[in-house]
Amino acid sequence: TLEDWVPAELLRDRGLIDGVWTAADTGAEFEVTNPASGEVLARVPDMGAPETSVAIEAAERAQRLWAARTASERAEVLFRWRDLVLENQDALARLLTLEQGKPFAEARGEIGYAASFLRFYGEEARRIRGETIPSASADTRIVVLRQPIGVAACITPWNFPAAMITRKAAPAIAAGCAVVMKPAELTPLSALALAALAERAGMPAGVLNIVTGGPQAIGAELCASPAVRALSFTGSTDVGRLLSAQCAPTVKKLSLELGGNAPFIVFDDADLDAAVEGAVLSKYRHSGQTCVCTNRFLVQDGIYDAFTERFTSRVAQLTVGNGMLDGVQVGPLIDDRALGKVQAHVADALDNGAKLLTGGEHLGGTFYAPTVLGEATTGMRLATEETFGPVAALFRFGEEAEAIQLANDTEYGLGGYFYTRDIGRVWRVAEQLETGMVGINSAMLSVEIAPFGGVKQSGIGREGSHHGIDEFVELKYLAFGGI
Ligand code: ADP
Repeated sequence: TLEDWVPAELLRDRGLIDGVWTAADTGAEFEVTNPASGEVLARVPDMGAPETSVAIEAAERAQRLWAARTASERAEVLFRWRDLVLENQDALARLLTLEQGKPFAEARGEIGYAASFLRFYGEEARRIRGETIPSASADTRIVVLRQPIGVAACITPWNFPAAMITRKAAPAIAAGCAVVMKPAELTPLSALALAALAERAGMPAGVLNIVTGGPQAIGAELCASPAVRALSFTGSTDVGRLLSAQCAPTVKKLSLELGGNAPFIVFDDADLDAAVEGAVLSKYRHSGQTCVCTNRFLVQDGIYDAFTERFTSRVAQLTVGNGMLDGVQVGPLIDDRALGKVQAHVADALDNGAKLLTGGEHLGGTFYAPTVLGEATTGMRLATEETFGPVAALFRFGEEAEAIQLANDTEYGLGGYFYTRDIGRVWRVAEQLETGMVGINSAMLSVEIAPFGGVKQSGIGREGSHHGIDEFVELKYLAFGGI
């Protein structure tokens, strides 16, 4: 059971509102299950609009006091929180694997990544600087303040149950905002465990509130409240569109990190070993369930056969299983809906002429074999929709211009990758890809010091890096006269 794996302090079955671990007003709860086994792990409060409204009021009160603290004091709380997260890295990783399914090694990596935001934004708190601007006349001065925006609402997805919490909460809290967080209903336990550690780190009541429950009701309340000044959301493009519409009447600042359809281009002159390694990592990490996972491999004619052969044989060796077991590289999909989409994409591709090179099988539960499909074409569903599963589709192309055209032929623009040793091509392709992030001979984009985010319908705003603070501050221009 859960208690055997995770210390009691980290197992919370209540939301956190104004520093109090709170049940739903109605007493209702929902179940959190382990996707690897279907076992019920815990029950957490099924909150809705009333609890959310109380959390927003608590955040409003707490925010004024929090913003009045010095930047160093805010930083110290984030640093202590980070230390506690790292001290509990294994326990948090076990909890993450149990509720989410990813292999334990990846979960451990995610906890480290989650902690990195606490450190980075703790450091950044003291560097939220304003500016002075040379004025237009001798008796005036212009000063620009950067002030916390106020209460920030954060809605996070299930694929990074820990890192998305800190990636949003850390910059908000560093800037002097208070947060009302709604974690994904599939994976609330990691968020609650992190909140328990924040509390131990000295986070004042009301600065970090966690409401669990029905996304529609909680989301509508967060969007409608005039007190909530910023909404930071990571999830699907459809929900992002809905939330933008719901925020329009109260004109909130929006940060949206939405779906992607990442291209991974392998040019004839690529370092084949590096391209194959990068391809495996960018596709099968987390069973293909990240928004920057490759969705389309575009492979140039001259290297297509060699790449396909090596890549397929690597993929065929991946070990699938329960993420708690040693050596497992690919865990289950999050739920039946995710499995259904993967199966539908594979069936559609095969109907339309794709070649099954490996995998293509349902392995029971929500486990799906790592799959490679050759000779994919643009009419297939997986060309335009995010598969979000362990399925690699290989498209063939001839010229560089064709690769760029194919890569950009999508409403999305989050991540993109390409492999080449030609420095001229590196610049040409990097500049022309319509994505917010580009991996060049590299398949790893996520790091706390760099700005993560998308263009086109993949989102608005950036998370991570010093730019991540901008989502939670407002500029205030002071015009001084009579000097
Ligand atoms: P996914 O397809 O990855 O599950 P979603 O966009 O459905 O992505 O979920 C991401 C987050 O958005 C989750 O926390 C989920 O509960 C939340 N969510 C889903 N629908 C809504 C909604 N109508 N309003 C607010 N939040 C929502």
